[in-house]
Amino acid sequence: MDIKKLLGNRPFDIGDDGTLICCNCRGYSIETECEQCNEKINSIFWIIVDGEKRPDLLQQIVEGKLHDPVCPRCNYRNHLEINLLLFHPNKKPVLVFSPTKDTTPEECKCVGMPLLLKLKQQLGDNWQDEWYYTKDGRGIFIVERIALPIFIKKMWRIK
Ligand SMILES: [Zn+2]
Repeated sequence: MDIKKLLGNRPFDIGDDGTLICCNCRGYSIETECEQCNEKINSIFWIIVDGEKRPDLLQQIVEGKLHDPVCPRCNYRNHLEINLLLFHPNKKPVLVFSPTKDTTPEECKCVGMPLLLKLKQQLGDNWQDEWYYTKDGRGIFIVERIALPIFIKKMWRIK
């Protein structure tokens, strides 16, 4: 798999959990098969997205296409359900967690916390506790995937 090409030649690291780390974002490079024609599709499934450093990924989220690799042979748009932590240091809220559609509210903390810890580790001294422990005590925003594009457009004022 040509990871460099998938990352647009951006520099990357491999984390100790096997994920790709690029511009504060983390993801898995996965080979899937097209649901329609079984062609192999190489893509990166992002679990953490830094919307400031990767506005292109943010745009894909706004368009609801982030985890939807398009088949290079038949152009079919495949879809995968993956938990996503979204981050933007200059927007409010700074952190948004969007679980897969089958995740119950009780499970959110279990699946969201590891992502949060990975981002915290990645940012090092740039991490700020108040992003998570907001003054109003609301904590991290949890937004259903189906509602995520509208939420981001509205809250982060992205077109
Ligand atoms: Zn196909």
